[in-house]
Amino acid sequence: MYATTPGLVCAHHHLYSSLARGMPAPPRTPTNFSEILELIWWRLDKALDLEMIRWSAMLGALEALLAGTTAIVDHHSSPNAIEGSLDVISNACAEVGVRVNCCYEITDRNGPAAKAAGLAENERFVKAGGVGMVGAHACFTLSQESLEEVAGLAKDLGCGVHIHVGEDRVDADAGERLEELAQPNWLLAHCVHLDRGLEGIIAHNPRSNQNNGVGYAHPTRFSNTVVLGTDGIGADMLEEFRIAYARLREDDVTATPSTPWQWLENGWKLMPEALSDQVLWSYAPMDPWHLAFTPGVRAVQVRVGGEIVLDNGRPTKVDEHEVRSKAAEQQRRLWAALSEQ
Ligand SMILES: [Zn+2]
Repeated sequence: MYATTPGLVCAHHHLYSSLARGMPAPPRTPTNFSEILELIWWRLDKALDLEMIRWSAMLGALEALLAGTTAIVDHHSSPNAIEGSLDVISNACAEVGVRVNCCYEITDRNGPAAKAAGLAENERFVKAGGVGMVGAHACFTLSQESLEEVAGLAKDLGCGVHIHVGEDRVDADAGERLEELAQPNWLLAHCVHLDRGLEGIIAHNPRSNQNNGVGYAHPTRFSNTVVLGTDGIGADMLEEFRIAYARLREDDVTATPSTPWQWLENGWKLMPEALSDQVLWSYAPMDPWHLAFTPGVRAVQVRVGGEIVLDNGRPTKVDEHEVRSKAAEQQRRLWAALSEQ
């Protein structure tokens, strides 16, 4: 009665946000997307140190594995712990048994020294053989000169740029600013307010977009390859597929689950290694029309690179309770640091 698929891919994640859930309320309630960044995420990322990043990534990777996700495309930011951060994330994922593509988020919002350190971290990681891209926050926190530096570094390294594009109206001129820069190997996250076609793969994050009140991305209006991401809200890709389907149907009641299922499968274009992974599920058949209406399907056994990394629904390489308790310990440290800001 069980069915198998290759490992699923979370095409846009922020593993550093795993410790954020339940965090202390911000100093005041954010009223728009810019304030959500300023009052929540840009306070949180400044408070991160390498130990918090490690356990946040361990927890995120563990939860990905439990959901049958064997490959994560991560987008990282920790302005006060930049150097070595991508190794910490990559090593944490390897420890759990999940594949990861890393990048460090370049931005001008923390000044020129932090920008330079961010560029150096991407360069160091990829040159040392790490699987990664060059990370960039979004056009609205980058000068055109900085965007060109990001594009130039990616070209030199032979990889793509992983960037947020038109997530909110505040970034509405992203299309114009990226038109001459974007390449087919770039990963464009969100594209809710993107006003034109750009080279690259589009990462659709339907739940995050709803959560931030930024609108529906209408991914079918683009001819680009579309992949599915969670934008940091876990890595349960069957759940994200169901949300993508419901959101699509809300917009077009004639749409079928084969469209968001294709977005899920397109993740293998980004992380083809996951195709060789094998997930045994608690349900059969693993068919879009079934899964769109079947919550709670769980991974029973997962093989990554031939190794069993999840068995009887439990991880084999790490102790789940230890990961959760260490992560909770770092969560307390992070929240204490936030309250001191
Ligand atoms: Zn994101």
